[in-house]
Amino acid sequence: MRELLEKIAAEGEVAADGVLKVDRFLNHQVDPQLMKRIGEAFAVRFRDERPTKVLTLESSGISPALMAAYELGIPLVVARKRRPLTMTGDVYRTEVYSFTKQEANEIIVSRSLLGRGDRVLIIDDFLANGQAALGMVEIIEQAGADMVGIGIVIEKAFQDGGRLLRSRGFRVVSLARIASLDGGAIQFADEVMS
Ligand code: 5GP
Repeated sequence: MRELLEKIAAEGEVAADGVLKVDRFLNHQVDPQLMKRIGEAFAVRFRDERPTKVLTLESSGISPALMAAYELGIPLVVARKRRPLTMTGDVYRTEVYSFTKQEANEIIVSRSLLGRGDRVLIIDDFLANGQAALGMVEIIEQAGADMVGIGIVIEKAFQDGGRLLRSRGFRVVSLARIASLDGGAIQFADEVMS
């Protein structure tokens, strides 16, 4: 998605150790117009799969996931990292290792929100080692629902997540793929910026 690549090139910052900081439009300050077009881009790519729900993990996946759900006309389910007091009743739960926080997090979804018959589209902001996406796949499996695909805003193609998920036969659509952050320079994988 050309507009996204240009935004990353203009406003993305390389933090230490292969981490891209996009706090000016995605992770801290959010650009709603860009999110709308990201939502449209995911909707175009996944509409034929007839998803019934979008699933993301709090908190940074919420902005693109909400706009994708809006465009598809279906609900967004936000997997929680801590069980809020208001979440009573049975839950699906699993653990994921966070790449940016370097710690294990529980992820929790109420059993009342996902179940058999659901066709679930996973959306997340970044794909690094694939642990967040695999955690969401695990939740969908626990629910007996079908997973129709994984939409990623920014895939870091130099990490293993994309390979891991695609080797399991999952359809992964990334709107921007980054080949390298070496030396503080952002290099894109498959589109030439001009
Ligand atoms: P994974 O589970 O694929 O290793 O990492 C994905 C999660 O870690 C994403 O949900 C995202 O929140 C976070 N993440 C991974 N790499 C980056 C990065 O380079 N920049 C930012 N801002 N978040 C990242």
